[in-house]
Amino acid sequence: MDESFIQTTDSTLTIKDWTKINPELVAGFTTKHGGTSHFPYKSNNFGLHVGDEGHNVITNRQQLADQLGFSLENWVCADQVHEDQIVKVSSVLTGSGVDDYNDSIKGTDGFYTNQKDILLTLCYADCVPVYFFAPNYHMIGIAHAGWKGTVKNISGKMVQLWDMMEKIPPSEIYVTIGPSINQCCYIVDDHVINEVDKVLEAVSFTTSPYEQISDGQYRLDLKSVNYLLLLHAGIQEDHLLTSNFCTSCDNDLFFSHRADQGKTGRMISYIGFYNQYK
Ligand SMILES: [Zn+2]
Repeated sequence: MDESFIQTTDSTLTIKDWTKINPELVAGFTTKHGGTSHFPYKSNNFGLHVGDEGHNVITNRQQLADQLGFSLENWVCADQVHEDQIVKVSSVLTGSGVDDYNDSIKGTDGFYTNQKDILLTLCYADCVPVYFFAPNYHMIGIAHAGWKGTVKNISGKMVQLWDMMEKIPPSEIYVTIGPSINQCCYIVDDHVINEVDKVLEAVSFTTSPYEQISDGQYRLDLKSVNYLLLLHAGIQEDHLLTSNFCTSCDNDLFFSHRADQGKTGRMISYIGFYNQYK
């Protein structure tokens, strides 16, 4: 049983507690089921950049748009580069990258908005989706944190941006860490661990987010690194939830870059406020 997500359809998981806080909110993650792609097999691939035929991806996106009642012209998609750029999205950016990867918002791994009728989306196959919500400020955000984004502290950066630019204290922010590859399946080398050590230098914790398994080989828990960085950024423990799903172990439900040896599709994370009044 996952603490934070429930499967709502064959093709979607939903953050179960957040829509209770605000029924206008939609926030979830896709599975690999229910789509029309033939890449890497019959599947629900959302990535336009992974070798699938574009019309299949757009059909998959349209199916989700219909299911959620959130028109494709109001989605935003990014050209993700494993960096830490976060973009505040307004309605002028909606439609970016929806049917043409070249129109995606460039070099971006995080989005946030306080406007209705905008669906923030990012693509994943093992990396960590991090969802942000400040109900009293009508603010939502999403970040893509692979190991590179994690050690650049994109999660903490979102909290700092909201604090500095939007005057939202960290104590007002809820965060949910979504399905990603877990420690069981994520083996990394010294190079990655050195970067993890650097970003955690000033962070206090009792249990290390990685364990050494042999010379130069470690099992890394990326969700825990993000969790520790979010606590350090001022998020309250009772506002912080983590999904148990491992995209590699739960390969019957998810694409996994590692489990599928690189040739795989992409799930998306999505978060938006419906406009009830349109
Ligand atoms: Zn696993």
